This record gives sequence, structure tokens and C-alpha cells, in this order.
Amino acid sequence: MKPEAPQTDLIGLLPEEAEAALRAHFGRRGQPAFRVKQVLRWIYEREAFGFHEMTDLPLAERTALDEAFAFTAPEPSKISRSVDGTAKHLWRLTDGELIESVLIPTQTRLTLCISSQAGCAMACTFCATGWAGYRRQLTAGEIVSQFRGARRWARENGYEDITNIVFMGMGEPLMNPKAVFPTLRILNQGYGMGARRITVSTVGVVPGIQRMAEMPEQFRLAVSLHAPNHELRQKLIPLEKKYDLDELLDALRRFDAAGGKRITFEYVMIDGVTDLPELADELAEVIREFNAFVNLIPFNPIPGTEWRPSKRQRLNYFVERLESRGISAFVRESRGSDIAAACGQLRAEVTQGRKPVQMGSI
Ligand code: SAH
Repeated sequence: MKPEAPQTDLIGLLPEEAEAALRAHFGRRGQPAFRVKQVLRWIYEREAFGFHEMTDLPLAERTALDEAFAFTAPEPSKISRSVDGTAKHLWRLTDGELIESVLIPTQTRLTLCISSQAGCAMACTFCATGWAGYRRQLTAGEIVSQFRGARRWARENGYEDITNIVFMGMGEPLMNPKAVFPTLRILNQGYGMGARRITVSTVGVVPGIQRMAEMPEQFRLAVSLHAPNHELRQKLIPLEKKYDLDELLDALRRFDAAGGKRITFEYVMIDGVTDLPELADELAEVIREFNAFVNLIPFNPIPGTEWRPSKRQRLNYFVERLESRGISAFVRESRGSDIAAACGQLRAEVTQGRKPVQMGSI
């Protein structure tokens, strides 16, 4: 019989917590200490999706683990593959919520883009996730599970190992600190993903940036700036009204001062809106003081707006103009747009038609 209290999810614990919990559990059952190592290996290296898969443990021990702990397992509801090799997983959570993660292969890397919330409350005007509304926070186990599920799928489908993780899927990671900060440590310490290969992308949640600055590990920060001044930024990003550009830049100064971590600025290129030449000059001015570079993201069209992506010529011109002012800039080529896997397109399509939840509901 399952105990009444909610079971602790082993997948959402820090490695040292999981180890301690397992040691206590096997101690109570009079089992040898090596059982702890066996289970930890199944979690971090051998990608078991449940205790039943831990075949080198006696059946009675698998059953006892199942009674003592929860074990969040990835449950794919749909997998889509793009012509360019990008693969999107739609995951079904235990309460029926749907979230997405995207595997993006390049010549030298395999990047996994993961979600931190079901939906998003930030309501950025150019982002389909924002339009679809906010559903709920993900637990650490649910975020880690996207990685575990995608890694196993990648291995079984002829991809290389995942080299990089970006929190650029659905949701605003720094609005879910309770799950996201432990997840960073779990991925780093448990699954051996280097901190410099994990990037948290934020629309500018100042307290979260402060916490990132205080972490000893070198996790990377990407900031969705998208506009170099308050007037334009508030038209695109409602959060600008809460944490305005000046306050955001102050937080980034503190992050920079904490040392060693290069900031990425993301800047969406919308034809006639964000791509005017004078905005490039203003952008260069605003970010000059940082050890940073700019990722220009051509706008990915979403239903409900008339906006178009910038023309190729304008993208190149913007890059040149930034570089002539000493700022490194790259165009982030859109990947997986044929399967709605590109930046801003994730909205777990099946949820279409649900009533958006108002901002401020979290
Ligand atoms: N909440 C995080 C992660 C969001 S998604 C953040 O705001 O950073 C990752 C990036 O895609 C963000 O920079 C986001 O602004 C951008 N994006 C959203 N919608 C887009 C669209 N339609 N076209 C291009 N980029 C988009």
C-alpha cells in the first residue's frame, strides 16, 4: 500500500539528497550499501524510466522502492522530426498538462531546449507560448525528465550525446526558481552536464538574475532584450513595466561583476519594428559595457500578428552595424520551423483554444 503523504520524487532531488534518501531506505530494509550505487547508476547513467527497469535489483526491492518514492518518468505524447534534423517532443505530464522540448543538432553540438513552465505568464506580444497563457509551474523532476527522455531518445535514434542545454522552451525559468535552481545543480552534478554548457534564458526577472550571479557555478545567462529602450521594450514585453530596462541593466552589472560569465543578449528581428538602423546604434551603446554578444533571432511568424521577419539584407546590415561598434553579433538561424519548434512557436498545439490565464496569476 502506498503511504498517504506525497512521495518524494527521486528524479527531482539533488544527487546528495537522493543518495541520503536511498541510504536511509535500504538501511531500514537491511539491504547492503551497494544497492544505493545501483539505483543512482540507473538514474544518472542508465536512464531507467522507472524502478521496474532496474533489473539488477531483486524484485522485492524494486517493489519496495516503488512504494517509498515517486519517480517522474517522461511520457512522450508526440514526437515530430524536422527536415533539418530538429526533433520536438510533446510530453504529457501526470495531470494531463502538455509541454515541449526540442533537440537541435548542428555539426558540432546537440542542444536540448527545455521548458520550465506549462505555458507562460509573461505574455510577450511576439511569442506564441505567451499567447496561449499560463498553466502551472513544472517541478524539478518534470524539467529533469525532459532531459532524461530526450537523451534516451537521441541515443536510440542515432543522434550524438546532448552537449548543451538551454532553458528556451516554454515558460520563464526565473519565474520558477523553486524548481529551476535545483534542476541546474541536478543536471550539473548528477548528469555531468558542464555548467558552462547550460544556459538560462530570461526576459529579465531581476531577483532571479541576482540569484544566478550568486551561484558558484558558471551557468550561463541569456537575456531577451529585444529593444534598446524602455518605450519600445514595453510594447513587446509586459514585464518591462515591472522591471524596467534601467533596473535590468543594473542587475546585469552585478551579474557581470560576479565574474567570468559571458552574457548573451537575444534580440528578435521584426521587420520595421525592432530592426531600424538607429536601434542597432542604440543597442550597441546600451550593452557596450558588458562582456557580451548578441544573438539576432529572425522573428518566427506566429498566428495572430501581422509582423514579418526582417529581410536577410537587413539582418546582415544590423550585424555589420553592431560589429562596427565593437559588439559581436550572430544571426541565430531558425531551426525546426516546419514542425513549429522554432523560438516562440512552442505552445503544445493540442492546448489551442484554451482560455488564456491572466498575467499575475502566479
Ligand atoms: N522566457 C525565456 C525563454 C523564452 S524562449 C525568455 O524570455 O528568454 C527563447 C527566446 O525566443 C526568447 O528570446 C524569446 O523572446 C524568443 N522568441 C519568442 N517568440 C519568438 C518569435 N516569435 N520569434 C523569434 N523569437 C522569439
